[in-house]
Amino acid sequence: MTSHPPFTSAAAAAERMEWLRQQIRHHDYLYYVLDRPEVPDAVYDEWMRELHALEAAFPQWVTPDSPTQRVGGAPLAGFAKVRHEQPMLSLANAYSAEDLFDFDRRVRATVGPVRYVCELKIDGLAVSLLYEQGRFVRGATRGDGETGEDITANLRTIRALPLRLREPVNVEVRGEAYLPKPAFLRLNAQREAAGEPLFANPRNAAAGSLRQLDPQVTADRGLAVFVYAVADAEAGGELPVSSQSAALAWLAQLGLPVNPTYQVFERIEDVLAHIEAWSERRHELPYATDGMVIKVDDFAQQRVLGSTAKSPRWAIAFKYQAEQAETVLRAIELSVGRTGAVTPTAVFDPVSLAGTTVSRASLHNEDLIRARDLRIGDVIVVQKAGDIIPEVVSSLPERRTGNEQPFVMPADCPSCGQPLVRLDEEVAWRCINPSCPAQVREAILHFGSRDAMNITGLGEQWVDALVRSGWVRDVADLYLLRKDQLMQLERMGDKLATNLLAAIAQSKHNSLERLLFGLGIRHVGEKAAKTLASHFGDLAALMAATPEELTAVREIGPKIAESLVAYFRQPSARRLLERLQAAGVNTRYLGPRSATGPFAGKTFVLTGTLERLDRKTASAYIEQLGGRVASSVSRQTDVVVAGHKAGSKLGKAEALRASGQNPNLAIWDEAELLAQLRAAGLNMEK
Ligand code: NAD
Repeated sequence: MTSHPPFTSAAAAAERMEWLRQQIRHHDYLYYVLDRPEVPDAVYDEWMRELHALEAAFPQWVTPDSPTQRVGGAPLAGFAKVRHEQPMLSLANAYSAEDLFDFDRRVRATVGPVRYVCELKIDGLAVSLLYEQGRFVRGATRGDGETGEDITANLRTIRALPLRLREPVNVEVRGEAYLPKPAFLRLNAQREAAGEPLFANPRNAAAGSLRQLDPQVTADRGLAVFVYAVADAEAGGELPVSSQSAALAWLAQLGLPVNPTYQVFERIEDVLAHIEAWSERRHELPYATDGMVIKVDDFAQQRVLGSTAKSPRWAIAFKYQAEQAETVLRAIELSVGRTGAVTPTAVFDPVSLAGTTVSRASLHNEDLIRARDLRIGDVIVVQKAGDIIPEVVSSLPERRTGNEQPFVMPADCPSCGQPLVRLDEEVAWRCINPSCPAQVREAILHFGSRDAMNITGLGEQWVDALVRSGWVRDVADLYLLRKDQLMQLERMGDKLATNLLAAIAQSKHNSLERLLFGLGIRHVGEKAAKTLASHFGDLAALMAATPEELTAVREIGPKIAESLVAYFRQPSARRLLERLQAAGVNTRYLGPRSATGPFAGKTFVLTGTLERLDRKTASAYIEQLGGRVASSVSRQTDVVVAGHKAGSKLGKAEALRASGQNPNLAIWDEAELLAQLRAAGLNMEK
């Protein structure tokens, strides 16, 4: 990371401070209000640290509206506002042992001997939960700390959150709503399949999921929550407990989800050892953590210490440095997606990061390359965002030799050579040629994928060959293929050709929802396809539906409706559908897929410790529903169920999926397995 040189004049420092404030304000808005950060947290944190340092050196220029004096972002329009009786503060940060020792010295100087509670810092979104007479009555986001958004309806959909406590108490608690890693990966895979922008990390995905105007959307995302505080502890409300550790135990007793890893220490050295012990172990958790929160245990001492406008003086967040590595940027590759969006990917020398070797990272769009001033040949810093997704943090311009090449976005599609366009309000460049081979290739791969038409054997290799041969220019052409054509493809054998043709023929009998999802209509994911198919019954009825009729269907919003109407209006789409029908492809809804057991034909692998079900019971349930349980993860695996401390099998599953060798592999946590079992109608009462 680049640090700014010392300032030669006070005026230069003032100018820098103003620049930093502007940057931070702008990125606060993107992060807190839009849930769409454009720079990695490490870059943002560095600006914040620099601003803090400058404000310490030039206290006369600290403004009351400086981002260092404020908490979070503004509430979003569309939700009712909630005023927090006790402000929801942020936390002061520590990045080193030094910072921690300073904190300890300050605390002891004020209150004498102390005990500290250490809690994992869960990387999610702070929420306030109000219980009256033990009933959950209101939930809110932090917002700017004073006023948040009323997201009660959305929070109600989180299964881990009790709607009723074990005792009829009045209490406001604070906690962190988060998206478990498997749910995050699943969500991004679904978004990719529906041609929607991906979430940068689990935290933004959690924030985006909780701030949905439609609670059904939130419900489908698989959010969870950990509760970590009683709101008015510092204010001295009437509580049956007088310390943070006792409060955590009490909250757990009330039936609230409390993270079980917290621990109490008397010496700051032991706190530090604990932080170090978790710096590696935390990667094994099924949720993202970015630090450890250290709190003075005793509430009376907390009251004496008090708070600043921004954060309590009795707590500090130790932030783990995201594991970073330096490497050399070798190339920026462009790929054309199914929707024509051109995505740049950084290709760099392989480096090891948080447990895996990485050599590629998405750069999302041209603006990002420019903002980070990345040049081919640059030494770059890479890390994993939210512990999962590789990203390029920055380049190191001071290491340039002069031979680095700036990246130039080509004016034409790298696949078909037609001019690229930038549509209104979009950051992506798009190829709008519907017969662009790269798009055709992606469209066919998607059409044949397991959750769409499920054409086994139609992998990348054959799709590439078929597109190149010119026999397949759209998905309808698949149904016209003849064996003698297939036999002309390099490395195609008699048996392979027979099987592929059989799989293609078999796919004609699929129920409508598979076809609908397979067409790759923007925003029409697997779930929407199923809803639409079962509601309208056949393709003709769906095509005749007006936007009003579409949005009247539960779970179908205006975005999906608009996209469908626009799709069906295109003469080319109508022709394609006519040709599919002429080839004998079924266009009716055939009823729920569970006919032969909802898990029929699916291979499961269980890993990690399951808490509610033991493995034997889980396996028995899966088999009862027609699934098969295997012991190792491979290309044939359909679902990996990852319990606590899931290790190498989960890693392998993620790798297989990320590398495209098994792109449809699903990763479930235990809650998801239970939900699926229940949804399949399994009666799990003992
Ligand atoms: P924070 O994440 O540094 O810490 C405070 C939060 O920690 C609390 O509000 C709470 O939500 C959470 N927390 C988790 N576990 C907890 C526990 N056990 N006890 C108490 N709190 C717990 O503060 P913040 O103000 O929410 O966010 C600031 C951070 O957001 C920055 O450091 C930066 O990394 C990131 N950010 C990034 C951008 C960007 O553009 N990339 C912009 C703004 C902010």
